[in-house]
Amino acid sequence: MLWIEKTAQFGAKTALRDETQKWTYQELFSKAQKVAIFLLEKLQVPHLQGARIAYLFPSCPEYVAVQWGIWLAGGMAVPLSPLHPKTEMEYFIQDSEASLLILHDNFSDLNFSVPSISWDIVEGSLENLQNSVGFPEIALHSPALMIYTSGTTGKPKGVMLSHKNLTFQIETLVKAWEWQKTDKILHVLPLHHIHGIVNALLCALYAGAEVVFLPKFEPQKVWDIWQREPFSVFMAVPTIYNRLIAEWQKATENEKRAMQAACQNMRLMISGSAALPVSILEKWQKISGHFLLERYGMSEIGMAISNPLHGTRKAGFVGLPLPNIEVRLVDENNQPVLQGEAGEIQVKGENVFMGYWKREQATAESFTDDGFFKTGDIAMQDTDGYYKILGRKSTDIIKTAGYKVSAIEIEETLRLHSEISDCAVVGIADEDKGEKIIAFVIAQSSNLNENNLKDWLKTQLAYYKVPAQIIFLQDFPRNAMGKVIKTELKNLLK
Ligand code: AMP
Repeated sequence: MLWIEKTAQFGAKTALRDETQKWTYQELFSKAQKVAIFLLEKLQVPHLQGARIAYLFPSCPEYVAVQWGIWLAGGMAVPLSPLHPKTEMEYFIQDSEASLLILHDNFSDLNFSVPSISWDIVEGSLENLQNSVGFPEIALHSPALMIYTSGTTGKPKGVMLSHKNLTFQIETLVKAWEWQKTDKILHVLPLHHIHGIVNALLCALYAGAEVVFLPKFEPQKVWDIWQREPFSVFMAVPTIYNRLIAEWQKATENEKRAMQAACQNMRLMISGSAALPVSILEKWQKISGHFLLERYGMSEIGMAISNPLHGTRKAGFVGLPLPNIEVRLVDENNQPVLQGEAGEIQVKGENVFMGYWKREQATAESFTDDGFFKTGDIAMQDTDGYYKILGRKSTDIIKTAGYKVSAIEIEETLRLHSEISDCAVVGIADEDKGEKIIAFVIAQSSNLNENNLKDWLKTQLAYYKVPAQIIFLQDFPRNAMGKVIKTELKNLLK
């Protein structure tokens, strides 16, 4: 039995809302069953047997009915995002060999290379379908979800997660973060990514909580909504907190007080998917009274490390391994590093994905002989065992003049400067030093220039960590999750 079938117990409780609709758990499940029957009839099979069904929806209740309908029919859900350009969506559709594409009415005039059907046609035919038809038996180890990697080092790869993976990930987080049916979350994250799908949506529904979708994140809207009605949980990436802070700074004293008061309804505010700068954590704490709970994870493993809900949360650290997930740090020879030294994070557990779709070699290469997934992220542990992320091995660990330097550490330092609103640090090949450090900076004032910023950095960092060059930009290239695309920054230097 899939966990989604158990949500029927929440009956008339509100499951999902957007600006125009409110669906109860009963309505959601009944609609999902009908979508399942529709898919089986459309494809004329008794079981989808892992067939890929792609769907392009904004964040809305229908998105969930389609996702669950695909699962009840035995298919693999391939969520597409309106945030992606059409060529990228076409790549996901072709790469996944999708049997069918369901398009929300907002996108029904888009043409793709696979058979597609618009949601209003699907919905129109649901009326006549009977829920009494038998549903196929779904094995827990069968594939449920395909999420594409961000493809910073080559073409995006389809990460296959089974029902078992998802159930384990959800149950782990529901327990760790104590999701309750009384919780209510304002959902602002994209729904093609593990953070938005598993952490913010499925965990809430597993617990019988209420999810309110805001399809497009706008800081002013979030502050308004929080002031209109109480919410208990929020999850976002650091960029979102940064934009909420900027909006707060623009407000009058009276408005600030009201915004601050709205945050008192929250019991839990979480940050992840990119390093949370300590400066953002501190500003947010002053504004909201909440010490953000930072956690670490990725598409391939869901969440693996988290600061505790109760107990000490450490700024700049992602916390401790979640229960029943093995985490270790190893050196380049796959040997455990000494306490306090940097190493690659490797992870083992039921949370870890099935493999990359149609990429057996890439899958094999991403696991060690003893079955640990090689995350490609470098971290170190403090004496309490808390993990600190130093960055991705491929882009954030810069080997310069014989030293290994963490781009994240330099970024943290740059952010201490009051006239810097954002920054990103990369390493590029250099004949003399192996790699040289380049900092990209978005400055708040024109007083800042390369020379005076370098002079300041020399008072803050060891000399070999001071960037060889500082480049001022108006904005950074970002992916759909708001993460800076460092490979594109490096391209600016070519
Ligand atoms: P994605 O698969 O798109 O979720 O990206 C996962 C990657 O985001 C990880 O491999 C890390 O490099 C990064 N990441 C996730 N959470 C954190 C965090 N709390 N701190 C630093 N990096 C993070």
